[in-house]
Amino acid sequence: MTDAYSQLLDATIAHVQGLKTAGVRHLSIAPETLAALIAPVPRRAPVSAARPEPVSAPISMPAKSVPAKSKPVASTLASDTKAVAMDELRSRVLPCMKCPNLASSRTQVVFGVGDIHAPLMFVGEAPGADEDEQGEPFIGKAGQLLTKIIQTMALSRETVYIANILKCRPDTPGQTAGNRKPTPAEMETCKPYLLEQIRIIQPRAIVALGATAIDGLLGKTEGITKLRGKWQEFQGIPLMPTYHPAYLLRNQALSEKRKVWEDMLLVMEKLEMPISEKQRSYFLKP
Ligand code: SF4
Repeated sequence: MTDAYSQLLDATIAHVQGLKTAGVRHLSIAPETLAALIAPVPRRAPVSAARPEPVSAPISMPAKSVPAKSKPVASTLASDTKAVAMDELRSRVLPCMKCPNLASSRTQVVFGVGDIHAPLMFVGEAPGADEDEQGEPFIGKAGQLLTKIIQTMALSRETVYIANILKCRPDTPGQTAGNRKPTPAEMETCKPYLLEQIRIIQPRAIVALGATAIDGLLGKTEGITKLRGKWQEFQGIPLMPTYHPAYLLRNQALSEKRKVWEDMLLVMEKLEMPISEKQRSYFLKP
């Protein structure tokens, strides 16, 4: 099979698996599409006559971050295939009404933001009031701190991907302010969308921010204090649990900031990013 055909097949399988996870049991298919699907697999043209195969999009990291000898990124979907799959997913998620209480109370669905080719993905809990209003995850005070952490890693919001377990703000009936934790049922209902995002992006590492994200992704409830700083695995992808930035806003101790930063240093090492002496010594006592 050609690379392009394999990529299309992978994207199609991911899409159909996503539909199945979302509860779809039957698909309508046009006769001509069916005919195309059962046609013989196209063969690669002879090398002399072949046009150059399109190369996968480069990972969005600083130029020096991945040495030439490093392993290729896990991402195998072509750039345009990923874009089509993500757009298709977005078009299904934005009008989602699966949680009637959240759909009626939200301003908008907060889908996710960043580079769909990113080697690194941050996963949080759920949108808060600011995110609900602006339609982008992690833009309130905790989000601004996350942005600083990302920048301290010599990355940016544009070179990583940021999403939440829950795409709608948990409703707080009778309250004018404050947030609430998503219920297990809400997380289970919305999680297939995040799984599809991960399948499309195929990051080389995931950072799970806070206990709820870890519970949602790994089903582990043994406590963020025990899990943070220890590599886990999510569907074959290395996953680093760390504190949610909101925790660092509540607890300003240097020691807690250092713990999160040590977790990020481990992530940078995993991604084979260069780390300066200055970066290594952030938040250490003088
Ligand atoms: S939280 Fe997720 S599943 Fe529920 S309505 Fe919003 S997008 Fe749909």
